[in-house]
Amino acid sequence: MAYDPGNVFARILRGEIPCRKVYEDEHALAFHDINPQAPVHILVIPKGAYQSLEDFSAKASDQELAGFFRAVGEVARSQGLVAPGYRILANHGPHSHQEVPHFHVHIFGGRPLGRMISKT
Ligand code: 5GP
Repeated sequence: MAYDPGNVFARILRGEIPCRKVYEDEHALAFHDINPQAPVHILVIPKGAYQSLEDFSAKASDQELAGFFRAVGEVARSQGLVAPGYRILANHGPHSHQEVPHFHVHIFGGRPLGRMISKT
């Protein structure tokens, strides 16, 4: 399936809809999730047009890959999450219930996060 340039995160990247920005550099944009699942719930997205980790890991340049994952770490540090701890999560495809087809990493924190995944 081709990348859909009308997806909501592509629209945020183009400035067509607003977001509560946390961090931005040449490779990544981070902003608060509109429906937070933890006291801190931030999404980090690459600036390139990738649907999920599947094509990001296969097609992105080394600079994009390094820049993106450095941004994830930088956001966690800047939010004070290193000492208390945090979780990152990236969904791909139907079993994961990925909703937005632009690669994103969720950063959760701000409270103890319980088990790794739901049993259901
Ligand atoms: P996924 O299930 O694709 O991994 O997660 C998509 C996430 O994007 C969800 O947590 C959802 O709340 C968030 N989201 C969907 N639309 C918007 C939006 O317009 N703005 C922001 N900030 N987050 C959104």
